[in-house]
Amino acid sequence: MSKPSEPRIIVALDFPEQKKALDFITRIEPGHCRLKVGKELFTSAGPALVEKLVADGFDVFLDLKFHDIPNTVAGACSVASQLGVWMMNVHALGGRRMMMAAREAIEKQQHAPILLAVTILTSMDENDLAEIGVTGKPEENVMRLASLAKDSGMDGVVCSAQEANRLSEKLGSEFCLVTPGIRPKGAEVGDQRRVMTPADAVSSGAHYLVVGRPVTQSEDPMSVLLTMESEISAI
Ligand code: C5P
Repeated sequence: MSKPSEPRIIVALDFPEQKKALDFITRIEPGHCRLKVGKELFTSAGPALVEKLVADGFDVFLDLKFHDIPNTVAGACSVASQLGVWMMNVHALGGRRMMMAAREAIEKQQHAPILLAVTILTSMDENDLAEIGVTGKPEENVMRLASLAKDSGMDGVVCSAQEANRLSEKLGSEFCLVTPGIRPKGAEVGDQRRVMTPADAVSSGAHYLVVGRPVTQSEDPMSVLLTMESEISAI
């Protein structure tokens, strides 16, 4: 991946239904953010909403974290590419053959989205991992799985901003790092445990930043976006 293009903020459209998402997007502009559609909104509103967002000029990150047998994931990735999404992801825990099948499937499409892997969910600690038979600390597993993801043809990983520096050093600055857990200076942290400001995340090597509630719950989402944008461009 070459240098990340602007805008670098990806707004998480974590709404339970289409109407709320569509109301929200009338208050923001595609030139200042991209959008992430995850399992909640996708399950409620389906692929038609994704096509609508793309038609409205937004770059869409389809965050469905596919994890299944290689053939099924390849099929899902092909169909997602045809929706015109800009970025999508699979679980690295699906293994090398699954990730390679995903890569191969999207390369056959007219338009290949950026393909990321999720390594270890940040909600899992060492005890949770031990319980499912995965030994070692979450950070060690993240590094190992990110290397496997790169080796299996992924363009990058979703990671915590705290891990971005090490990942960037190990896997190179071209490897795309997308980081949630971002909070503009002074914003409420909510249920996120470890947060970073947009400027610090980009300085640590993050290419794109996922921000949800600080933008979606704001009275003035455009001004939050513009403030974050200027913080990033001042680096
Ligand atoms: O509202 P907030 O900024 O916390 O939203 C962050 C978004 O990033 C949500 O869609 C959440 O599911 C996602 N995410 C995360 N932490 C991860 C992976 C994804 O917060 N490790």
